[in-house]
Amino acid sequence: MHKIAVLPGDGVGPEITREAVKVLKAAAEKFDFEIEISEALVGGAAYDQTGNPLPKETVDCCLNSDVVLFGAVGGPKWDDLPLYLRPEAGALLPLRKKLGVYANLRPAKIFSPLAGASSLKDEIVNGLDLMVVRELTGGVYFGQKTRENVKDEQKVIETLEYSTSEIERVVRVGFDMAVKRNKKLTSVDKANVLESSRLWREIVNSLAPEYPQVEIQHMLVDNCAMQLVRDPRQFDVIVTENMFGDILSDQSAQLTGSIGMLPSASIGGSTGLYEPIHGSAPDIAGKGKANPIAAVLSAAMMLRHGFGLDKAAQAVDDAVYSVLEAGYRTADIMEKDKQEVNTSQMGDLVIKYLDA
Ligand code: NAD
Repeated sequence: MHKIAVLPGDGVGPEITREAVKVLKAAAEKFDFEIEISEALVGGAAYDQTGNPLPKETVDCCLNSDVVLFGAVGGPKWDDLPLYLRPEAGALLPLRKKLGVYANLRPAKIFSPLAGASSLKDEIVNGLDLMVVRELTGGVYFGQKTRENVKDEQKVIETLEYSTSEIERVVRVGFDMAVKRNKKLTSVDKANVLESSRLWREIVNSLAPEYPQVEIQHMLVDNCAMQLVRDPRQFDVIVTENMFGDILSDQSAQLTGSIGMLPSASIGGSTGLYEPIHGSAPDIAGKGKANPIAAVLSAAMMLRHGFGLDKAAQAVDDAVYSVLEAGYRTADIMEKDKQEVNTSQMGDLVIKYLDA
């Protein structure tokens, strides 16, 4: 029995997670595994009902599950709340912390029927399939910060901290991912100026003998940013520290052209967190216009990385490909001569092609 906590959240969150759950149920039936779903409140929806964007019952529900499927949180209604009660800062960041997840997996894959949606030329991106593994709990985002008045101006100090064990555990995720994929690992750092990057590089080199089948490349972050737009297909798995990964994963995501298509996973703790990379899209919420594919592909990542159900995961990925190839599009990816469908029709189509 695979226990899944579903946290729909705000805006389009409930609409897209509904479709992902539909697809998960269909996959469970087809591939003969059992799932148990518990739903819990999060974000603005939780704040409205309980005064807390991440109620204890929700945390308990997640910790009692094997994995979490998260929709999206936030919206203008809650923008003026103090930071600790705001849906993103008050729910998503503490939830990641409570689950202990430290590696964020962000695939950027072009579905060839959608290659035209990329801002890069078709011949540069067609066939692109890379994975960014980003460290999620350390680095400058979590280091000590100070801000003080010195003479007649302000001075800020932010510290960048990493320990051997923090680096080693995420680099291992990168190696493991490369072993499962095309066996090429690019470790991104700034070893020409940062001591933390030098330590990072030493650790990658020290682990390399354990993964003889993986080809390793070290790349400076500025060069990586350039290579991602020059020749992104040279990459298989990129592993990097928190801030570099934050920036590079958004850059890689943009290569695919559509935010409604991009899933993510945060793993490493007891309970993995699977979520689309987009937000709650308040501008289209409740209109049936949201693209559920990012949520559906997040569910596929859950099957693959959370439960080791590779065949079922691949079947969901393939079903999404087939729906797109057959010409069905939600409004955000609509093109000339294609057929526009709404959120739930897209979910139904994925199930239809899953069964085909
Ligand atoms: P957003 O990702 O919600 O939307 C950006 C644009 O992309 C919008 O035009 C939106 O309509 C479109 N879009 C997003 N998802 C889509 C989908 N599935 N299908 C079709 N179109 C889609 O980002 P934003 O507008 O900057 O933020 C809106 C709210 O979401 C804010 O409150 C923000 O704080 C929150 N947010 C939450 C998360 C999260 O929960 N993980 C992440 C980012 C932003």
